[in-house]
Amino acid sequence: MALLCASQLFAQNNQPMTIVIDPGHGGYDPGAVATLNGKQYRECDIALSIALKAGSMIEKNMPQVKVIYTRNSDKHLSTNKTRDLQARVDIANKADAGLFLSIHCNAAKATSASGAVTLIMGESSAKRIQQNADVIEDAYRDDLVDMSDAATAAAVRAYIKTVQFTLLQNSSTFANLLQKYHKNAVGHGNRRSLVYGQPLWVLCYTQMPGVLTEIGFMSNKHDLQIMATEDGQQKIAKAIYDGFCEYYKIYFGGEPQPIEEPEQVEVKTDVKAEEPKSQPAESEAPQQEVAKEEEATDVGYTIQLCASKTKIATNSSEFKSYRGRVREFVTDGTFCYKYCTGIFASKEEADNSLKEVRKLFKNAYVVGFDGNKLVSHSVVAGKLKTK
Ligand SMILES: [Zn+2]
Repeated sequence: MALLCASQLFAQNNQPMTIVIDPGHGGYDPGAVATLNGKQYRECDIALSIALKAGSMIEKNMPQVKVIYTRNSDKHLSTNKTRDLQARVDIANKADAGLFLSIHCNAAKATSASGAVTLIMGESSAKRIQQNADVIEDAYRDDLVDMSDAATAAAVRAYIKTVQFTLLQNSSTFANLLQKYHKNAVGHGNRRSLVYGQPLWVLCYTQMPGVLTEIGFMSNKHDLQIMATEDGQQKIAKAIYDGFCEYYKIYFGGEPQPIEEPEQVEVKTDVKAEEPKSQPAESEAPQQEVAKEEEATDVGYTIQLCASKTKIATNSSEFKSYRGRVREFVTDGTFCYKYCTGIFASKEEADNSLKEVRKLFKNAYVVGFDGNKLVSHSVVAGKLKTK
């Protein structure tokens, strides 16, 4: 299969980043086990094989990306489950990775359950916890942070609100991209939600965007047939690679265009109503020129620090040294509150400031704005050209 998107990436920008790939389980812990045509398959082996395949595609086609595995053989990191999970977290944090990807297989009592799902950090609803207790029988539930302990739960909730809030949009984008490509591999089966939050240990304590992707169900014949074969594994690895490529392009190599959001969206609060767009001909009177210059500050580039599900006061300490110097944009989507800093007349100026901003907000990136709306770089470039 041709790997085309890599060449498109290099033309843009060569920002280095590290991805940590974590094949679930291993060693004493096989994860879910299932039999197909008289042969036994283990989740730990499937996860490892797919992780190595996806990782080598990245290494081969994206030399600016460093791949680190939490394990590259059949081994555990500790015989204590919590310490094993924390050891995986430590590898990612120590490497100062830009992205964490854990690969697992699902299992359920109901053999009809099928399809890929991708989990991001979040708190499960009570309904979801019950569903998990009913359907999931592998060691999967051991991977969750124990939220029944009040002190742990409070700490985790505070953590979700602070550290993870800058990372969740990236995690969510990556999760949705993986699911987009999983559709061509194992498929979505009968999954109702394709991406949802779970307080998973490896996602809670890693200090970077991350997801845990469950590529399919060991307990489902259709899924296992794909996951167990060389061809199927290649397809799944390619899906992961394609999802990562697109993610990289959004955040490191090109124009940020998160897939789950439309390019132009209305702002619902505060900022003044949009002025009617007048497009005077070049030869018009100087009076028009003045008017246009005033408008000019309303088109340009800005740096998005973070996105949030809930509104944050612009003078909140969450914005660190940018508190009070933050502008809010409201868009569609789950993470509808976007917080940006700076106004730049050119992409180059914005890129220069981005280096500084990233010291505090690692996942910040340059976005275009037109009045109250966040727009793509090309829209801004077009508008500035006609000035
Ligand atoms: Zn697992």
